[in-house]
Amino acid sequence: MNAPAKLVQSPEAFLTALFDESILIKTGVDGLYGRAGVFEEVIDGIENAVTKMAAGDQATRIHFPPGMPRKNLEKAGYLKSFPQLAGCVHSFMGDNTDHAKLVGMIERGEDWTEMQDATEVALTPAACYPLYPTVAAAGPVPEGGRLFDLKSYCFRHEPSKDPARMQLFRMREFVRIGTADEVTSFRATWLERGEKLIASLGLPCVIDVANDPFFGRTGRVLASSQRDQGLKFELLIPVTSDENPTACLSFNYHQNHFGSLWGMHFAGGEVAHSACVGFGLERTALALFRHHGTKVEAWPADVRRVLWG
Ligand code: AMP
Ligand code: ZN
Repeated sequence: MNAPAKLVQSPEAFLTALFDESILIKTGVDGLYGRAGVFEEVIDGIENAVTKMAAGDQATRIHFPPGMPRKNLEKAGYLKSFPQLAGCVHSFMGDNTDHAKLVGMIERGEDWTEMQDATEVALTPAACYPLYPTVAAAGPVPEGGRLFDLKSYCFRHEPSKDPARMQLFRMREFVRIGTADEVTSFRATWLERGEKLIASLGLPCVIDVANDPFFGRTGRVLASSQRDQGLKFELLIPVTSDENPTACLSFNYHQNHFGSLWGMHFAGGEVAHSACVGFGLERTALALFRHHGTKVEAWPADVRRVLWG
């Protein structure tokens, strides 16, 4: 089966097709999948294309693990804004008596999770979160600012049958720290680059103003203020629906929010601004499978060249 039209009847139908073709491997938990070799080759190809586009930018590459200090997630306000998405690692920290109780609970099929306590580790929700405190700790931001190239597996608790909404997925991110002008022109450059890159992959896209999924009633106010100020844009590609295209790339301007929160400032004391551009690697790969079919050998030659040159 290589006909893209068949893949897009519904998100569930696309997921089933991906399982049937062994492109994604079912684990029993929605949003938690194994990836076949061919899926990983596509991810590598997308990363190659992104790296080529950023060649010459001289970004500092850093690879954080998919966990970050829990206290930094708290300080970043993540639990205030997105409590529904956060994940914290828990472990057993008891003694022999507690251990016997734990094993008994598991044997009886009882809920044993109360036997665990929160560790110092939280799961990273976006690749840039672990970065800011490390930049602040490195001293004043130099003249001309800084540019980072990051990649991380990210966790968000949003179980879904939509294959484009995973609980664990990878984000490639570029993060610019500098003056307001420097970081907004970085974002403008990537808005153009992003569109060009996606077009070179033979994918249709639109760019639109967007908001993050802030929680609750106060969240609605935050979301509309974010939209009114044009702080977030997304590049959308039809992946599981033509009517509701999926955000595959995000372009965020944080103003001086992270600068003042973490103490990122220039030698003169002025607080730094920041912006980040995130590529959803799984979503972009799924867009390629959706539009070009499940047989990568049959993908258009120019698309294959962009991916694997
Ligand atoms: P965000 O911080 O929400 O703008 O996310 C950055 C990028 O990560 C988005 O543009 C998506 O491509 C990707 N992304 C966000 N949430 C998910 C998810 N649940 N599953 C897969 N990719 C995601
Ligand atoms: Zn970011």
